[in-house]
Amino acid sequence: MNSPLTLRELDAIDVSRLNGVGAQRRAALAGVDVETVLDLLTYYPRRYVDRTAQAPISGAAVGAEITVVAEVLSVTSRRMRGGRPLVTAEVGDASGSMSAVFFNQAWRERQLTEGRTVAMFGKVDSYRGRKQMTNPVVDLLGDRTGKIVPVYPQSETAGIATWDIASWVAEARRRCAPRGIADPLPSDVRTRLGLITRAQALDDIHEPPSMAARAAARNRLVFDELLRVQLVLRGQRLAREAHELGIAHEPSGLLVTAFGERLAFGLTDAQQRAITDIDVDVGRGRPMHRLLQGDVGSGKTLVALHGLLVAVQNGHQGALMAPTEVLAEQHYLAVRDLLSGLAVPDPSRLGGTRPLTLRLLRGGHSATERREMLVEIATGAADIVVGTHALLEESVEFNSLSVVVIDEQHRFGVAQRARLREHGRSDGRMPHLLVMTATPIPRTAAMTVYGDLDVSVLDELPPGRTPIATEWVRGPLAAEAMWTEVRAEIESGHQAYVVCPLIAESESLDARSAEQMHDELAAGALAGLRVGLLHGRLASADKEDTMTRFRAGALDALVATTVIEVGIDVPNATVMVVLSADRFGIAQLHQLRGRVGRSSHASDCFLVSDEDPTPIAEARLAALEASTDGFALAERDLELRGEGTLFDERQSGRSDLKLASLARDLEWVQAARDVAMDLVKSEGDLVALPGLADEIDWFASRRDPDFLQRS
Ligand code: ADP
Ligand code: MG
Repeated sequence: MNSPLTLRELDAIDVSRLNGVGAQRRAALAGVDVETVLDLLTYYPRRYVDRTAQAPISGAAVGAEITVVAEVLSVTSRRMRGGRPLVTAEVGDASGSMSAVFFNQAWRERQLTEGRTVAMFGKVDSYRGRKQMTNPVVDLLGDRTGKIVPVYPQSETAGIATWDIASWVAEARRRCAPRGIADPLPSDVRTRLGLITRAQALDDIHEPPSMAARAAARNRLVFDELLRVQLVLRGQRLAREAHELGIAHEPSGLLVTAFGERLAFGLTDAQQRAITDIDVDVGRGRPMHRLLQGDVGSGKTLVALHGLLVAVQNGHQGALMAPTEVLAEQHYLAVRDLLSGLAVPDPSRLGGTRPLTLRLLRGGHSATERREMLVEIATGAADIVVGTHALLEESVEFNSLSVVVIDEQHRFGVAQRARLREHGRSDGRMPHLLVMTATPIPRTAAMTVYGDLDVSVLDELPPGRTPIATEWVRGPLAAEAMWTEVRAEIESGHQAYVVCPLIAESESLDARSAEQMHDELAAGALAGLRVGLLHGRLASADKEDTMTRFRAGALDALVATTVIEVGIDVPNATVMVVLSADRFGIAQLHQLRGRVGRSSHASDCFLVSDEDPTPIAEARLAALEASTDGFALAERDLELRGEGTLFDERQSGRSDLKLASLARDLEWVQAARDVAMDLVKSEGDLVALPGLADEIDWFASRRDPDFLQRS
């Protein structure tokens, strides 16, 4: 074997084959998800210390941000008033010395032992006439030389230092050199995109001769990561189109027309466009796989309902699924109002009709009720069935399910779609699928995470909405003023939501805190008003009762956990108060805020923060104050948190995107997508590129089918 090494081959060589990696080191490396030579080669530096840009200590100007490379001369540690640790290190280079102080980082005393060479990045200030850096970024360099020194993510617990990694990477590269590293990318594509070879990229990412070379290396490796993902998605899509059978519907007809005629308002252009997309999809004999993205309040329900009615009109059934019973219930009520009195053509009577039958399937039915409902579903007597996602999991049998709508589901990935295929229909044809989400997805993520779905976007709100005024409430005085405003709004006939702090991933703790908050508010800030309580631990009958009373205006305020996060629609509610808002994410706050502003009344959203929000939490609250545009917020969110939460935690160590950033690499996502489409126009096209085909094959086989889809 003398051909250049492929990723598949590199991934089959255990790291223990390297010198210096014995059993103990091997276990430590496994702790950072490095098991093979490929893992090691793609264990990329976290940062680089550019020694060509380093400043001598003597020349460092106070106020400047600089990198110094120096030796630790001494370290001292003491406690300040209040007991907080303060570590001071004296560091020196050939030109002079300075100090570095670290607040609240007691471990620095162990890290900065005398004689170590460190790179420190920070702002130079002056303290008692001496130059000093406060809490600088520190990298241990060991005795490594070179102009640009890579700094690897290291693990203190695993006992792996950055220079250990560097030396293993160097050895791995040295031992790969005789055979070289294969480049499966067609060279015309490489040239067109101005990319360097893979071998060069793997060299330069680890040992860049210049920062420009490092940037070129990153581009190539980022492109490779994204291209692999796009090729897999492309393959899945083409396979689906070639092999999946659906049910072709006639999109126009009496039922759909009758429904359109009784709407009190015209559809927005965006709704109309989405409906046209759906009509085209369900009119074909191939199943629809469409994502409907629309900000809260953009009117997704109507679009979904149109799809369901097309199914019914064609003699089939539709299912509408929500993530919780509260939401399923609410969908049911909304849909029931919209559909009441509609008639379905009845083939058993020539030219005759029968009333449309809508059912809500949920827990809490008596055994008889449930059995009857299942019979209706199985015989086709039930036209549209609303329920939770359990509809799919349980063995609910439909007579002829042809359109499925899933609301607010980010996790509805490839695996769930496979289940839909299995449970959907006995004739092997697959129902059309519409997934709705009110969480706007940044463009890069839509192309990657949902890359194999078609997307319709509702980028327009129905007319007559007044934007929600959002205020970040800081401090007890501001909170007091807020409650006065809340009361005034209630006294003028409107209603308010109060969302309780998110305690933990524990429904029961959240429930307890909601109960407590309810009692506190009912006795204090909201005394004398009718205050309801809603949390996930209540029996469904109680939840339902509370929601019904709130909807009917029999409650002035609803104290709730995030169970109200999605979908709840009470137009008369015009105030949203979120307590401890700094503990929520941007998307979640945006969803919560979307519960108000659902009518022409002006609405307010108050985000009450705890005393000392972290800088990131502050940035989130500021973003919400500044914008009500869900797409702009989603982009901001991605910037603030990186793509971490787009990935499954368990997977993140070996995630598909190690270098590529969905926040920053839009251009490359787009380029990879274009190249994938270009290379694979129809199923099997990759055969012409055996190197790439093999790489995708290897990549797809080691990867969770829902790799990116969990959130
Ligand atoms: P979401 O996208 O958040 O699910 P909904 O479908 O619940 O939005 O719609 C929000 C509200 O807007 C509902 O009360 C609905 O009746 C109303 N609505 C939907 N489409 C229109 C429209 N084209 N014109 C006026 N109101 C509309
Ligand atoms: Mg909705």
